[in-house]
Amino acid sequence: MKWHEMRADEVTNAINTDVESGLTSKEVKQREQKFGLNELKEAERPSAILLFLNQFKDFMVLVLLAATLISGLLGEYIDAIAIIAIVFVNGILGFFQERKAEKSLEALKELSAPQVVALRNGEWVRVLSKELVPGDVVKFTSGDRIGADMRLIESKSLEVEESALTGESLPVQKSIQPIVGKDVGIGDLTNMVFMGTLVTRGSGIGIVVGTGMNTAMGQIADLLQNAETMETPLQRRLEQLGKILIVVALLLTVLVVGIGVLQGHDIYNMFLAGVSLAVAAIPEGLPAIVTVALSLGVQRMIKQNSIVRKLPAVETLGCASVICSDKTGTMTQNKMTVTQIWSSDKVWNVSGTGYHPHGEFMYRDKEIDVAKTKTLQQILTFGALCNSAAIMEKDNDYILDGDPTEGALLVAAMKAGLKKENLYRSFEVVEEFPFDSVRKMMSVIVKDKNGKRFVVTKGAPDVLLGISKSILWNERQEGLTREYEEKVKGAIESLASQALRTIAIAFKPLSSTERIETSYEAEKDLVFIGLQGMIDPPRPEVKQAVKECRDAGIKTVMITGDHVITAKAIAKQLNILPTNGKVLEGRELSSLSVEELEEIVDDVYVFARVSPEHKLKIVKALQNKGHIVAMTGDGVNDAPAIKAADIGISMGITGTDVAKEASSLVLVDDNFATIKSAIKEGRNIYENIRKFIRYLLASNVGEILVMLFAMILGLPLPLVPIQILWVNLVTDGLPAMALGLDQPEGDLMKRKPRHPKEGVFSRGLGWKVVSRGFLIGIVTLAAFMIVYYRNPNELAYAQTVAFATLVMAQLIHVFDCRSEKSIFERNPFENMYLIGAVVSSILLMLVVIYYPPLQPIFHTIPILLRDWLLILGMSAIPTFLLAGSLLTRKTA
Ligand code: ATP
Repeated sequence: MKWHEMRADEVTNAINTDVESGLTSKEVKQREQKFGLNELKEAERPSAILLFLNQFKDFMVLVLLAATLISGLLGEYIDAIAIIAIVFVNGILGFFQERKAEKSLEALKELSAPQVVALRNGEWVRVLSKELVPGDVVKFTSGDRIGADMRLIESKSLEVEESALTGESLPVQKSIQPIVGKDVGIGDLTNMVFMGTLVTRGSGIGIVVGTGMNTAMGQIADLLQNAETMETPLQRRLEQLGKILIVVALLLTVLVVGIGVLQGHDIYNMFLAGVSLAVAAIPEGLPAIVTVALSLGVQRMIKQNSIVRKLPAVETLGCASVICSDKTGTMTQNKMTVTQIWSSDKVWNVSGTGYHPHGEFMYRDKEIDVAKTKTLQQILTFGALCNSAAIMEKDNDYILDGDPTEGALLVAAMKAGLKKENLYRSFEVVEEFPFDSVRKMMSVIVKDKNGKRFVVTKGAPDVLLGISKSILWNERQEGLTREYEEKVKGAIESLASQALRTIAIAFKPLSSTERIETSYEAEKDLVFIGLQGMIDPPRPEVKQAVKECRDAGIKTVMITGDHVITAKAIAKQLNILPTNGKVLEGRELSSLSVEELEEIVDDVYVFARVSPEHKLKIVKALQNKGHIVAMTGDGVNDAPAIKAADIGISMGITGTDVAKEASSLVLVDDNFATIKSAIKEGRNIYENIRKFIRYLLASNVGEILVMLFAMILGLPLPLVPIQILWVNLVTDGLPAMALGLDQPEGDLMKRKPRHPKEGVFSRGLGWKVVSRGFLIGIVTLAAFMIVYYRNPNELAYAQTVAFATLVMAQLIHVFDCRSEKSIFERNPFENMYLIGAVVSSILLMLVVIYYPPLQPIFHTIPILLRDWLLILGMSAIPTFLLAGSLLTRKTA
């Protein structure tokens, strides 16, 4: 028999599990050994050897190796071996860079690995989805992604979207009845749920019957190898730039070689020099360094609690001009405590903090006995009954399982001695219509001991007021007249203006014959009883974060399902709402078109009582106005807006799988301040990439020009091939990596957001590359000529001086690259990686010049002390000539 044909108990027997206590750890281990991990096979990645060999597939490197081989055959063994060694070391470096980049991307995947709730050893625990085994009992609710194929044993209004499997985008209603009959397709298996599909509504429990490749998804896994490219726009642009640079470098090299040959240089020597120059001048390492810089930045972001799910988001973060953020839990702590209760124009205060169920009820500053106040008792009882949360005592502490709003209601009831478990002895919950943020309420149908049934509803007060017909006033049921309505509205406003989140409680008795099938039937003609007001204090760090964002040219917009006055009060506390700022409500939003919203959206700072579908409209309007929008969300319904936003952000703690998968950034701590840190990091990563692009390209320009000018002037080669390769490996590589780890400039979060279309060379970078590169070439050549003309017989000595000047000019210039403005803006000792890279580059250069066994290999001659003055003086010019002129301009 197939799983879907069996009854639930038959499934349990067949797969040997226990629906009360789940599997034991031992059974899990055994089954894992037998069935393997619950993973789909991934496409094979290139092996380490292949990755290493890939480093040498570059055309110019191959030409260089061929040329070296020829020179080896011609008897130039030392040169040949040295060049091969350098190319080899370069390859190893490239290999490790790529490996590192790959590893950290891999680690990222692990971090955002999906989890599920399974019954193990009698307890519901969170486990990694890949650890599921056949026989596991798993529960899931709206927003979850299904971790394995399961036969359902419980289904509460469960609906699942299975388009990944069936292509059908409409959710399927699920039940637990066995299905008989031949030829039932996957789409008809309504008593099963499948790996990779999404729960869009309700909740359920299932028994795992298939894992890994042994699932419906596994059978089509080959089709699923997601080909989503993780390249960022900058990487793509750099790739194009790289191609242009290769052509330019090659042309210049040909020019150098051509002129050199015309000037009477030996063809073979010129050829080797030309190829070395081409290898050095082509920034082949650039893409790898960019990836490393990006992934190291991403790792720093993880330490600051944000997980980047899509690499391009790192760049887009730096362009963000608006952050649209949820209020509850993101700007506030989501630790709710009921402090006021209102009914019939009476207000009771409740003391106590957090989820500790100890506190007093006061009326007009006097403690009262709740048992003697019938309405109060009723409000508290209903608040606890219409509730899916639980408060558990653990190690003298009280822990909430569920939604904080509901937790607050439970705790308030417990303070009056009304425990949910005890209440269940008098009331049986026979039906539940769970909360959703579109209805903004939740209802249950309860049956008391006498068999009498009631609908109990709790939810947003303005919504409940709209569906109530009467009101309980001083314990008497009266018609809900205009007058009463005004009184309730006054009470709502009074609670909300104290920044309290308000929940209304209402009920309705049912006759014995009345049938209720839908939430719509339950939630009408209610009897309004009263309000519970709860505080949800702002997170302390958010106010400062909002200010920093404002300084950085980023607007913060609060989006909340909460009451407009509560929202306004909290927005004021956090300085989000300026004096002339607008607040817009969900129903006003509904009546506006996207174009109409566009007109006013720049003035709106708070959107209240919104439904998730409004968020999409807000994103669109802002984008149409040219904004780069970051948008947060946690629920299933938030996914479209998260996807549409330039930076979709989801919540690590409260977020559903659906929201997480739609997002490009996950906030591990659900905290608004984390968005600010991520934006700062995003800006920094981009600036650091600019820094080393600037450094590398200026260096390359210098290297090419010194050779070109020398050939034009009919001079001998100022640098020998091995020296050029050495500069490329040591002087270019190490400091560039260190620039990728540079600290942000002080004014990073004082600048306006970067324009997303901005080119790599904007903001004067192109000019800096060319001018500094030109000067580096000139001073190297000048140092060479001075020493060469002093004694034309000692060419190798002049070449060594040129080599040292080129190295030193680059190593000084690297500090200039740290600032957009001037070298004097920054403390050079801030970045110890850079100091380390520069010092080791200098030491390695000294070794090459002064260590006798290396001298024949690198064609070096020990430099005399007085010539160091020349070298240092010359090499300081490229950086300080222009930095100096900038400085005088600034002080003038
Ligand atoms: P944000 O969008 O900032 O997270 P929010 O949490 O207030 O704000 P929703 O969760 O959509 O947004 O809640 C909207 C309203 O629904 C709340 O203001 C509250 O009045 C009501 N509400 C919230 N949670 C529940 C619940 N569990 N049961 C009944 N009503 C609720």
